[in-house]
Amino acid sequence: MIRMHAVNKHFGPLHVLKDVTLEVPRGEVVVVLGPSGSGKSTLCRSINRLEPIDNGVIEIDGRPLPAEGKDLARLRADVGMVFQSFNLFAHKTIVENVLLAPVKVRRVAKDEARRTGMELLERVGIANQAEKYPAQLSGGQQQRAAIARALAMRPKVMLFDEPTSALDPEMVQEVLDVMTNLAKEGMTMLVVTHEMGFARRAADRVIFMSDGEVVEDSTPDAFFTAPKSNRAKDFLGKIL
Ligand code: ATP
Ligand code: MG
Repeated sequence: MIRMHAVNKHFGPLHVLKDVTLEVPRGEVVVVLGPSGSGKSTLCRSINRLEPIDNGVIEIDGRPLPAEGKDLARLRADVGMVFQSFNLFAHKTIVENVLLAPVKVRRVAKDEARRTGMELLERVGIANQAEKYPAQLSGGQQQRAAIARALAMRPKVMLFDEPTSALDPEMVQEVLDVMTNLAKEGMTMLVVTHEMGFARRAADRVIFMSDGEVVEDSTPDAFFTAPKSNRAKDFLGKIL
């Protein structure tokens, strides 16, 4: 579903993605781990072209990333993204946040978009918050609304960049539960996270990045019990 081959990216003199090659097959969950500054967010952002790459190949569903225009807009609609900060529109209610893009971009009728939006809010457990404004919700509820908003575009793939890092500890699990359910329903997902429990339980594969390189690409079991590289051993030593 997502294929990256020999992707390179610089910020000025800084080489942030070094010959990155990876695949996220349809229906699989791939978790990306790595120290701060290793290039995880840049990797995520390059997949829907929020960050242009210098060279290499990125394909979604067998098609290379379009550079611009209508094709790029269509691609972005296929790739849902959830960030650390929820980025909800403050002056719109939760359900309006969810139905905005389907109405504007997919040209879905408002009634239908609202119905689907309510179903999605049900699915992430916050249907009873639909008419409130983002500031009236807890962080965990806001992040679940952001996930519902991304799902409203019926993406083929979901990218998550540290979706629980900005949350109070007691709200982390409710967001991870929503992500775990999505994974069980067969969503293709690339997840950058520091939640090792989630990585162990939900990931089909774990990719460990360090200094812009994919250093390990293995099953969670192999990664957590027998990391091959010293860099991964160091990383795990610090966080586990
Ligand atoms: P973290 O765990 O802290 O989120 P990360 O693995 O997501 O880190 P990136 O945000 O991808 O790392 O950053 C990789 C490197 O690129 C870092 O050295 C960062 O300072 C640098 N970088 C990121 N964005 C930019 C930018 N827009 N301009 C210049 N340098 C950048
Ligand atoms: Mg990051």
